[in-house]
Amino acid sequence: MEGPLAERARAKERGDAVPVTTAPVTTAPGTTAPVTTAADETGKLPDGTVDAVVIGGGAAGLNGALMLARSRRSVVVIDGGTPRNAPAEGVHGLLGLDGTPPAELLRRGRAEVRRYGGLVVAGDVTAARPAAPSAGGDPRFAVTLAGGGTLRARRLLVATGLRDELPGIPGLDRHWGHGVVHCPYCHGWEVRDEPIGILAAGPASVHHALLFRQLTADLVYFTRGTELDEGTRERFAARGVRVVDTPVTEAVTGEDGGIAGVRLSDGQLLPRRVLAVATTLRARTEGLDGLGLPVRELPGGMGRHIAAGTAGATEVPGVWAAGNATDPMAQVGASAAAGALAGAHMNADLAAADTEAALAATRRGSTCV
Ligand SMILES: Cc1cc2nc3c(=O)[nH]c(=O)nc-3n(C[C@H](O)[C@H](O)[C@H](O)COP(=O)(O)OP(=O)(O)OC[C@H]3O[C@@H](n4cnc5c(N)ncnc54)[C@H](O)[C@@H]3O)c2cc1C
Repeated sequence: MEGPLAERARAKERGDAVPVTTAPVTTAPGTTAPVTTAADETGKLPDGTVDAVVIGGGAAGLNGALMLARSRRSVVVIDGGTPRNAPAEGVHGLLGLDGTPPAELLRRGRAEVRRYGGLVVAGDVTAARPAAPSAGGDPRFAVTLAGGGTLRARRLLVATGLRDELPGIPGLDRHWGHGVVHCPYCHGWEVRDEPIGILAAGPASVHHALLFRQLTADLVYFTRGTELDEGTRERFAARGVRVVDTPVTEAVTGEDGGIAGVRLSDGQLLPRRVLAVATTLRARTEGLDGLGLPVRELPGGMGRHIAAGTAGATEVPGVWAAGNATDPMAQVGASAAAGALAGAHMNADLAAADTEAALAATRRGSTCV
């Protein structure tokens, strides 16, 4: 095999950036100005209306953008650069990539999107709203960045992730993602056999405790004023989980910089090296109010997420959501998969809109003859 395809294949094998086609990306006939989004590290925004803007360039947003860019859609990813797992040393439980540092995974993802002509721009979206639709009724959106740059888009993918809110216990924040953990699948193996404390936040913490018990035999459950029925206390006792009802006042840092233990209201220091907490999970929606996306509360005061249906479609025509912004339990693999699915559905939606626009143009042409 020779020619451009062979060169692309060779470049790919070498790990080089695959040359991007210079052909303009096609958009709906007569409705939008064609825009090419050649790989561009400068962050210069395109002038015309792009097929899709992706708000948030974590696993979900980048995988959505990858599907769109590979479908020859003009796509711009705007990313604030603050992924949820930033404090973690490695992404765990992700087949084939287990242990890859989060920043490295995203670096590779951005390169992959750019390889197909997608634009990935560092910045924060401060406003997004529906704009006047095309003459044929195709949705349009206006997106504003901090600093004043603007973009126009036919479709939006919201992949802004979520914020973890820790319980208000002094001393916890500084250990977040290291000595203070939330997820047995993300960093449970790394803290195996350590003295672990569960800082209960509600009924879900019982489940949390049983999962961490799988990882260590030295587990203390701090009830922190939450209900714990006799049956559960009996089950904990059967598994060797110690229950402490005395209120927790502080997470104490040791001389080595790690967690030394938990200070109780009676002054006692109970030694622990790791504390597991259920954080409150809040979808990141800063700057997105203008879209009017439905936001739902999670059960038990666990947080809130953007409501989305099949493949991430929201109630707002033309807007999809993927990753932790809509599915707070999704890990990196599930977030990336959701982004990919949303991107594919957005491309299909655009293909249908392009066809309708072409048909309308053809009919207009034939009536003129
Ligand atoms: C400490 C910790 C460790 C973890 N470890 C693992 C692990 O080992 N394995 C695993 O599978 N999962 C792990 N996770 C879960 C993982 O972080 C999430 O599954 C994943 O980050 C979700 O991807 P996302 O793309 O939805 O959101 P994110 O990765 O959070 O990306 C969202 C992006 O959107 C950007 N953004 C937000 N708002 C805006 C805006 N208005 N304008 C522009 N950009 C915006 C943010 O800056 C961010 O870059 C961990 C989580 C935590 C907290």
